[in-house]
Amino acid sequence: MRFSTNVSALKPSATLAITARARKMRSEGRSIIDLSAGEPSFATPEVAAEGSAAAVRAGRTGYPPTPGFPELREGVTRYLVETSAHAPEDPAGVLVSAGVKQALFNLCFSLFGEGDEVLVPAPFWTSYLAIVELARATPVVVPTDFDEGFALTVDGLESMRTDSTRGLFLNSPSNPSGAVMDQDTLESICAWAGEHGIWILSDEIYRRLHYDGTPAPSVFDVEDRPEHVVAMDGMSKAFSMPGWRIGWAVGPPALIKKASDLQSQTTSAAAGPSQFAAAAVLASEGREKVIADFRAILDRRRRSAHAELQGIDGLEVPLPPGAIYLYGRIDGGAADVDSAEVAEALLQETGVACVPGEAFGTPGFLRLNFSVEDEILAQGAELLRDWFSQR
Ligand code: PMP
Ligand code: GLU
Repeated sequence: MRFSTNVSALKPSATLAITARARKMRSEGRSIIDLSAGEPSFATPEVAAEGSAAAVRAGRTGYPPTPGFPELREGVTRYLVETSAHAPEDPAGVLVSAGVKQALFNLCFSLFGEGDEVLVPAPFWTSYLAIVELARATPVVVPTDFDEGFALTVDGLESMRTDSTRGLFLNSPSNPSGAVMDQDTLESICAWAGEHGIWILSDEIYRRLHYDGTPAPSVFDVEDRPEHVVAMDGMSKAFSMPGWRIGWAVGPPALIKKASDLQSQTTSAAAGPSQFAAAAVLASEGREKVIADFRAILDRRRRSAHAELQGIDGLEVPLPPGAIYLYGRIDGGAADVDSAEVAEALLQETGVACVPGEAFGTPGFLRLNFSVEDEILAQGAELLRDWFSQR
């Protein structure tokens, strides 16, 4: 079948594709330990179900306003003001979308196009490249170093900047590495981007999953930031609500308006009942406790899986300061490692599904989602250890 040039180079999301494959193998009777897609194992907070059901019973089931119901736009604004030092206070700067993924697409499509370059620090979340390419812009990968904890520096960014550089993705805590950017670095990157008129798209979806207990620094903690800054977050991770498909982008109202106009021509709005669920969670008294409880369990899983995976020949697994993944380096970073092959063999021979580093722009790594139930995690870690020891 012949498809348009819009999608001729498009590949499906590697993370979702591996999960779909693992599910299919399971349905065929294989025993599968799925450590692939990052989906916390927790049930949706009760208050979400109540908020959503109450709105539906009250008949609030018409088309939502394209950028989101006022309750949620205001709720997001309050949440940001309560959890960061210098958040914008105007709900007109909030766009609610069907997940951070759609927010990112709306922003990239609104800001970048043919001839524009967008800096993407590696390792990066798998969809960034595809989204930039769908906007016909060019992603430019900025390498970082495993031995430096994948720290991003202004020097590293500057070395990849050209006159065509229009944007930069930040993702702290990072998927897949879990690396967290400190406030000083964030400030210096904001200053550098401001100087060169580069848009910062800060994907802060794991911000609350920072295991020292405080939210990881946000671009909204930087007082003296340039105007060209957008931050994104949503309900999928810290609130364990990925299926509700709610995310948001917060930035200059003129950009948010354009991205909303784009959304009005695609999905119209994020699903109304999901928006009411999200608004109820954000406004609830128990909000911070929900996050703290999830984070405490995730921290336990992070530490136990990390401990279990130490001392393995051929796999180095650092303890990640944030997010929900262990990112292990295979064979000390040897250039000839084919991690896609390793992940495939692991899946076929042990039933453990994880995502190879190729998906994140750093071949030679394996990403393991540690936010699964303790028992599954323990089984997965044991199978992985045994497999590597016999490899
Ligand atoms: N950004 C990052 C870094 C992610 O890991 C994910 C996957 N959940 C997303 C964005 C998209 O999240 P969602 O669309 O579920 O809000
Ligand atoms: N973001 C998660 C992951 O990286 C979920 C899957 C996806 O949206 O790609 O596994």
